[in-house]
Formats: sequence, C-alpha cells, structure tokens
Amino acid sequence: MAYAYDDQNIFAKILRGEIPNDTVLETEHTLAFRDIQPKAPVHVLVIPRGAYVNADHFANTASDAELADFQRVIGRICTGEGLCPDGEGGAGYRLISNAGTHGVQEVPHYHVHILGGRNMGRMVDSD
Ligand code: 5GP
Repeated sequence: MAYAYDDQNIFAKILRGEIPNDTVLETEHTLAFRDIQPKAPVHVLVIPRGAYVNADHFANTASDAELADFQRVIGRICTGEGLCPDGEGGAGYRLISNAGTHGVQEVPHYHVHILGGRNMGRMVDSD
C-alpha cells in the first residue's frame, strides 16, 4: 500500500517549528498541542512526529515504540486535562480521528482529537 505524504501540510510545518503551536506535551515520538479552533473547552490534537497520513497508515507501518508512545500520550493528556471518568472528577471525553474523503480529513498528517469539558452529544449525525 502506497501512502503519499505531503510534507507541506500544516502539522508537518508545526513539527519542523516553522509555525508556532500551544504544546501540551511532547515526547520522543509524539506531540500534543491545542487545536487552533477548539470545538470544546478541551480540544487537544495528538500527532506522531513521523510522516504518517492517517490512522491506518500509522497502525500498519509505525514501529511498536511509536505506537506505544502515541497511546501513552493520549492517556497522559486525558489524565492531565482531568477528563478521565475514573471516579476522581473527570466526566469523560471523545477521541476522533478523521481519514480521507469520507472522514472529512482536513490536515493530511495523522492526528487524534481529544475533546472534552462538555457533553459532546451523539457520536455522528444521522442525516
Ligand atoms: P481534521 O479535520 O483534519 O481532522 O482536523 C484538523 C484540525 O486541525 C482542525 O480541528 C483545525 O482546527 C486544526 N488546525 C488547522 N490548522 C491548525 C493550526 O495551524 N494550528 C492548530 N493548532 N490547529 C490547526
């Protein structure tokens, strides 16, 4: 499977430090920063540092270290933002990852949205 990665996408530029971002957490393989147009009181984007287009590209080709690091960052963000519905005050959150045309993906660098701080409503519009 050939994945074409556009290294001029906005998140590639953020990773290269060409445009600023509001970083929440960074690790060897992963960067998390606040969405520039937040859709909820908490809206954090988690991206791998590697050149992956979307979730299936990442899941199919990233190293175990990259995959594990990415998941750990999601956990740390949910904890750090007080979102975990674990009996300690967090009320939950939603993870979203859009891919391709039907997923209406805007930025072609893999990212997971972490949304919380309010009731996120039903998962998908039915119409
Ligand atoms: P997608 O539709 O690709 O899943 O989501 C892309 C997200 O990236 C959108 O929520 C949009 O607000 C966010 N975004 C686009 N450009 C920038 C930017 O320059 N900085 C930040 N922090 N977020 C951006």
